Amino acid sequence: MAAVAAVDWRKGLDAGDLSSEALVRDAFRRIGALDDRLHAILAMDEERSLRLARQADIRLRTGDRTPVLGLPLVLKDNLHWSGLQVSCGSRILDGYRAPYDATVVGRLLAAGAVPVAKANLDEFAMGSSGEFSAFEPARNPWDLARVPGGSSSGSVVAVSAGYAPLALGSDTGGSVRLPASFCNVTALRPTYGALSRYGLTAMASSLDQVGPIAASAADLALAFGVMAGRDPMDSTSMDLPGRERLNPLRPKSLKGLRIGLPKEYFTDGLEPGVGDLLEAAIRVFARQGADIREVSLPHTRYAIDTYYLLCTSEVSSNLSRFDGVRYGPRSPGGSLTEMMAETRDRGLGPEVKRRILLGAFCLSKGYYDAFYLKALRARTLLTRDFDRAFESVDVLATPVSPGTAFPFGAKTDDPLAMYLADVFTVTAPLAGIPCLSMPAGFVGGLPAGIQLIGPGCSDVMLLETAHAFQLLTSHHLETPPIHA
Ligand code: GLN
Repeated sequence: MAAVAAVDWRKGLDAGDLSSEALVRDAFRRIGALDDRLHAILAMDEERSLRLARQADIRLRTGDRTPVLGLPLVLKDNLHWSGLQVSCGSRILDGYRAPYDATVVGRLLAAGAVPVAKANLDEFAMGSSGEFSAFEPARNPWDLARVPGGSSSGSVVAVSAGYAPLALGSDTGGSVRLPASFCNVTALRPTYGALSRYGLTAMASSLDQVGPIAASAADLALAFGVMAGRDPMDSTSMDLPGRERLNPLRPKSLKGLRIGLPKEYFTDGLEPGVGDLLEAAIRVFARQGADIREVSLPHTRYAIDTYYLLCTSEVSSNLSRFDGVRYGPRSPGGSLTEMMAETRDRGLGPEVKRRILLGAFCLSKGYYDAFYLKALRARTLLTRDFDRAFESVDVLATPVSPGTAFPFGAKTDDPLAMYLADVFTVTAPLAGIPCLSMPAGFVGGLPAGIQLIGPGCSDVMLLETAHAFQLLTSHHLETPPIHA
């Protein structure tokens, strides 16, 4: 099977050769045939999706040519789609249903996209492998014995396995880019504020972003353009410069494009096979006349510590709302405090508990200055590293992860090893700048991606650069060896 390409389906729908209803039925057929093995999907409402598809078909017949009209879409199960569950991959939200649409979901629905399923994830988006889901974890379609990457595990698997051409995940420190690299798809983490987070369950609010996922940059741009733009419901949101260039996306001319390779990212920890793929990808850019330079981001070695101190601090505060009073099942308990403690103890998994404890510790009296405040200062230094690098280059190219997808269980008993899978993905979010992951080839049959990072608000330029690369390469067209 060729990769499901939204831009091709778009043409078919516009020409009247395809119907949205047929595409949505096919999505359900594939989910039915494959998801017993892949576990990417947590919830569906087939009747509602088919109704939406038929409405899209009516709009298509009237000549409506909205970019995502009629295209199937999968949503990470920490995004609100009115009436459906929002489990966040946790037991503590059993029975909770979204009372409203997230702004990004509402905009896609208004544009005629058809959500077909809610996707699996690490509990409250905390994880790098998908294994911290409270439910059966999603599996990598390229090798069922390996993790798909996390935390947007199900959303990425859904695109990789051809359930839908578009999916939404969320990215706090790598959660769309890392699984995209492990499963051979393309994913964007936009500039902080480019997409509204209203209706995305908060993990670490100074870092969280919604991230679109698709087979290619051109596909992804269709959904991104519809979602982007200021939202009065999220005061951190803003209008994205260059949004009108997203449809249709044009390839960037690579001649003279200054691409920086941060020397701190090409270290011993990088698996040799992955390093070779990156070199080959960089040669593709160089052959088109790109100007490749080495740059330095000298504070990179502090990134993991900084991220995990700030992330856990914000997690400990954000997750205090899950207490048995407002959402989900309530444990009996005697006093109010006992009830809350019991509800949280039963409802939350080990990784979430670990982060709440770590974060509460970082923020506590006597430790605040030593940990939280120091991490905030380190964040400023990391941001300045990027500012300085972008004085001499237009884009940075780096690995996404030190290796390819790892086997189940390889890192679950060693939190530090799991955190180190994020070593290349946490830094750009700390600076609020956009970055994307796209397929760069295969090592021993397993995919690996390359990451592009740009200055703030350069999202469209990053997608144009990725599009240029994808017109010159075919890695993103390869599909996994799994059959419906
Ligand atoms: N893997 C990272 C973490 O566990 C990133 C998670 C995310 O981006 N949601 O925090």
